[in-house]
Amino acid sequence: MTRKVTLRRKRMLWGIFFLGAFLTIIMGGISACRPSVQVSNYPHELNDIPTLEPIPLRAGEKLRVVATTSLVADAVAHVGGDRITLTRMLPIGADPHTYQPTPGDVRAVAEADVIFVNGVGLETWIYDLIRQAGGERPIVPVSAGIKIRKPIKEGRHTSGAIEKHGEGDPHVWFDVQNVIIWVRNIERTLSTLDPEGKMIYQRNAETYIGVLEALDAWIVEQVQTIPEERRKLVTSHEALGYFADRYGFEQIGTLFPVTTGAEPSAQELARLEDAIRSHGVPAIFTESTVNPKLAEQIAKDTGVMVVPLYTGSLGEPGSGAGNYVDFMRYNVSAIVAALR
Ligand SMILES: [Zn+2]
Repeated sequence: MTRKVTLRRKRMLWGIFFLGAFLTIIMGGISACRPSVQVSNYPHELNDIPTLEPIPLRAGEKLRVVATTSLVADAVAHVGGDRITLTRMLPIGADPHTYQPTPGDVRAVAEADVIFVNGVGLETWIYDLIRQAGGERPIVPVSAGIKIRKPIKEGRHTSGAIEKHGEGDPHVWFDVQNVIIWVRNIERTLSTLDPEGKMIYQRNAETYIGVLEALDAWIVEQVQTIPEERRKLVTSHEALGYFADRYGFEQIGTLFPVTTGAEPSAQELARLEDAIRSHGVPAIFTESTVNPKLAEQIAKDTGVMVVPLYTGSLGEPGSGAGNYVDFMRYNVSAIVAALR
């Protein structure tokens, strides 16, 4: 008798177990049909431009365009001019690695005809944002087609988790030739979405590319004034890799491993101080978007100067780095003055 009851109870328990498993599978299937899942269709690193269709615009109506960083927005503004309505997402001085989108950003993204991002894993927060905004807006990474460099270091949080920073170095704008690729990608995208404006976008792009070519040549010329053995960079985080590669600098080290969201260990800092002394590096370059405390400490230990640069964001209007060309001129002048 007791044996029979136990058996029946056992069967009942198995029944509940199977029913539970069945419901879990069904519910999982249902939630997988929600539109938010579409976001996972975007390539993780956002390295490709999606297929785009013209937006039907009424007479006098403008394309509604969102751009993430101030640097991307500046390039979009040069190409789009008065023909588009442009919303820049990140405020001046915000660190693009650690930015927290606002409810206003969700609204702007939900209403946008297109969203321009840097891509290459810079805007790690963009996926959540697009999911919140409905998950269907076209995202165009302006860096599509750029040859991506691998970072020297692998970032590690104090928790031990490896930085999700993608496969490549996202700071492409420190090579002016890459920003010329941005301009071409933006021009092509706006011309596809608004074919009637094609002539305007093309003319704006050509004019700006001329300015950028002149900027690139000026940088090459400036760097020649630094003795070759002094073309060495120590920076807050590995933001100047493309700059070093294009204009001929050696990167000696960084304070923060890869992104500004990761913390350096005591051992890494000691190694950096040794490198600064043995290479005779005269300056540490800090960034407007990163707390300079650590740099100041190392500079005090090693007796070198701290030179602030603009890296992840333009400066305020009137700062001398309020647009991309001025931003590069400011940074190059500061680097040349410190190393020459
Ligand atoms: Zn960065």
